[in-house]
Amino acid sequence: MSRSEPGGGGEDTIPPAAHHRPGGGFRNPWRDFAPDIPQGFLAWARAHRTTHPRPRDPDPSVFSRAVPAFSSPRAPAGDLSVTWVGHATFLIQIGGLNVLTDPIWSERPSPIFFAGPRRWVPPGVRLDALPPIDLVLVSHNHYDHFDSRTMRRLAALHPNARWLVPLELGALVRRKGALNVQEMDWWNELQLDNVVITCTPAQHWSARGFRDRGKSLWCGWTVRAGQRAVYFAGDTAYFPGFREISERCGPFDLNLLPIGGYAPRWFMRFVHMSPEEAVRAFRELINGHSRSLMVPMHFGTFKLTDEAMDEPPQRLRAAWIEAGLPASQLGVLAHGETRSLVARSESASGK
Ligand code: ZN
Ligand code: ZN
Repeated sequence: MSRSEPGGGGEDTIPPAAHHRPGGGFRNPWRDFAPDIPQGFLAWARAHRTTHPRPRDPDPSVFSRAVPAFSSPRAPAGDLSVTWVGHATFLIQIGGLNVLTDPIWSERPSPIFFAGPRRWVPPGVRLDALPPIDLVLVSHNHYDHFDSRTMRRLAALHPNARWLVPLELGALVRRKGALNVQEMDWWNELQLDNVVITCTPAQHWSARGFRDRGKSLWCGWTVRAGQRAVYFAGDTAYFPGFREISERCGPFDLNLLPIGGYAPRWFMRFVHMSPEEAVRAFRELINGHSRSLMVPMHFGTFKLTDEAMDEPPQRLRAAWIEAGLPASQLGVLAHGETRSLVARSESASGK
């Protein structure tokens, strides 16, 4: 099998290890999605951001807040709920476990505590009010998903938590104090009692400095417990892999999909989905599963890109109607809001 050579193949199928760069590091295997990301950032910073007026942001009060209603310390194994802390941080209760995604409680997603974009709204759950955390899922090393200060506090407060991270990110997480850290590659699976976690492909990139681009992997995660399953997409552009994720790991009761960070499109479309693309991804994920819910994320928390802070959910709702999807399958959460998914009846058959 020599199909993983750069430029090789050319048909629709992606060779299994095509995201591994020859000589080390990682890349996106879809050939149409390989821009020079640092060049794009430079062009955005130098030209676009100074010559294009950016839309005005609303007052942060446009984002409503809710009192969390997760179960403490743990929910029954058959229950499934999700609580939005903000950005890509969720507390998911599934299979009797408390699962946290891409935890960030800090004021700024930045290497420097006094610089970088500021948090637009406070976290929806206090960090010290979390129930005992069993599992932390990290999608990649960007500062808005991998926050050192939060990690140190979590590692101290929840020393028994197991941390799952994509390849080459384990050492950094251990340095933050986490004791039980496991690296996984795309499609690797881990079974914890009756819960199965799978690391899934994503179209994105990684870097924390100027010289580490692509050295660690990026990914999404799925968590399955019996008949209940959740898909957390991480940070991703639209890519031709959602159907396969659903076929291999779904169908999902809950799809946590990013909808913000898309402007300007000429550059951001390689790294972040627009709301319209997230709807397309959802349609490919649901695969005829009529109870599937989409919960949007990666908006309304940090000012990272050019679109107005309240534009992503507005465009999402418009795209939802345009696609003819039922309103009951869209769950736009307030910061702090918990959504419980009704358990499927034991006696239900057919679906
Ligand atoms: Zn990212
Ligand atoms: Zn991000």
